[in-house]
Order: sequence, then structure tokens, then C-alpha cells
Amino acid sequence: MDEYDNHSHDELVALVRGLEAALEAERGRADHLRDILRRKGYRERCDIPACNCGEHEWNHGGHASDRLREICNELSSEMQGRTVLDAVRFVLSERDAALAKKGGE
Ligand SMILES: [Zn+2]
Repeated sequence: MDEYDNHSHDELVALVRGLEAALEAERGRADHLRDILRRKGYRERCDIPACNCGEHEWNHGGHASDRLREICNELSSEMQGRTVLDAVRFVLSERDAALAKKGGE
């Protein structure tokens, strides 16, 4: 037995119409709040192709510092007081030296 089984047809129609109107009002409110978030610079998902944050919720993008930290962590043994760029250059020069040595064998 459903709680609405005793309602008349007209009552049920009125309930449905009321809920539809409330739903429409809430949709409008959600649209309004989404606009505010967008104006504040938030995005529904991270749209930077090179970013691997996988952010599918509202976020402010700009995950560059996170990505940079990942690179720093990966290069931790090569950092040794170097900047990130110098650590990358160091790794590349090591690679080139290894390739040159291999080519010379
Ligand atoms: Zn991202």
C-alpha cells in the first residue's frame, strides 16, 4: 500500500504539478549558482589537456603547482640544489652522454 493510493486523481495531479514547479525553481537556482561559480573562475571539470588531475568536480584548475611537485618528487635524487629546469637538463645530458657512449661502442 503506497501512501498516495488514497489520494484522488485531482490531488495526485496537483501534487505532481507542485513538485514539477518546485523542481523547475530548484533547477533555476542551480543554474544561477553554477553561473556564480563560473564567474569566480571555477570549472565543472579540469579542462587542461596536459593536466592529469582527473578533476571532475568543480575546481579552480591551475593544477600546475601540483604537476610541478610531481616532477620534483620524480627528480628528487637529481635535484640536489638544482632548480627543476636544471635537474631536467641534467637528466637529459646524462641521457645524451649515455646514448653517445652506447653509439661509440
Ligand atoms: Zn587539472
